[in-house]
Amino acid sequence: MRNLEKILLAFLLSASLAACDNFSTDPAEPTEPDTEEPEEPADPEPEEPPVEEEEDYLTDREGREFSYVPVGDLLPNSGPGHQDTTIYRPDIIFPLEDAAFLNSQVYRYGGSQGSVNGMEGGQCNAANYEYPWQDTFCESRSRTQIMCPDGGHEGLDIRAATCIPQSGETHWAVAVEDGRIVGLEGSKYTVKLQTEDGTLYRYMHLDMSQLAVSDGEFVVKGQRIGKVWNDFFNSSGESVPTTYHLHFEMYQNYAPDEETDPVFDQVSPYMTLVNAYEKKLRGE
Ligand SMILES: [Zn+2]
Repeated sequence: MRNLEKILLAFLLSASLAACDNFSTDPAEPTEPDTEEPEEPADPEPEEPPVEEEEDYLTDREGREFSYVPVGDLLPNSGPGHQDTTIYRPDIIFPLEDAAFLNSQVYRYGGSQGSVNGMEGGQCNAANYEYPWQDTFCESRSRTQIMCPDGGHEGLDIRAATCIPQSGETHWAVAVEDGRIVGLEGSKYTVKLQTEDGTLYRYMHLDMSQLAVSDGEFVVKGQRIGKVWNDFFNSSGESVPTTYHLHFEMYQNYAPDEETDPVFDQVSPYMTLVNAYEKKLRGE
C-alpha cells in the first residue's frame, strides 16, 4: 500500500511538472525554497542558520543522529504492527534517563526469533544499540489481546544506552510524569505508575530487588523508579530472565468522572515516546 502510494505520488508529480502551467500555485508543493529568500536581507545577523538547527536532525550525547522507523513498520515477518500516530501525552518525559534504543527483543540479536531476519547472536551485538528506533507494538506473540487480536506485544521494548551485562552500567527508569506507584505488592516484574487523571503506565523487567520506590508512594516527573534489568517470570512462577530492557505500556483512562472506576484502554505509546525523546535531545 505504501509503495503503491509512493508510485502514485511520483506519477502525479511528474505529470504536474510536465503540465507546468499553474504548478507554482499549488500550496501543497514543497519544492519552493525561493519564497523564503526575501525575508533574509531584513535580518541584521546573517551568521545564524536557525532553521537548520530546529528541523534538520537531533543528536544524543554521543553525537549519534536520532532517527526512527515510522509507527507500525515492524521488522519483516515479526507481526502486523499497529498504526497510531497519536501523541497521547505530549508533556511526558522519556522513561529512561540516558540514551535509549527502541527495538525488538525477540526478532533481533539475542532474541529467540533473531534468525527470522538473519540476526543471530547475543543481545549485546552493537547493532542492537543503534538508531533508528523501530516499533514493536503488536509484534507477534502467542497470546491474543484486545489491541493485537491475532496475538501480539502490547507495549514497546526499550534498550538502555549500553548492554548491561557487558558494560556493567546502571541505567535508571524514571517517572514520565507525576503520579503514584500502585499495585506493587505481589508484583513480580511490573511497576505501575498512575497519574491523577487515571492514566496508567506499566514498567516491566526492572531490577525488582532494588527498586527506588515503594507501593503507594507519590513520585514526581523524573524521579528514579528502578534500574533497567531482565526480571521476568513465566506463568508457573519460574524465573525466566528476558533480555535487558524496559517494556513500557500506557493506558488511557476513559472513565467519565472521578466517581466511576477507571476504564482503561491501552494505546500504543510509540509516537508519544518519539516526541518525549526528541524533547529530551533538544534539552527541553
Ligand atoms: Zn515487551
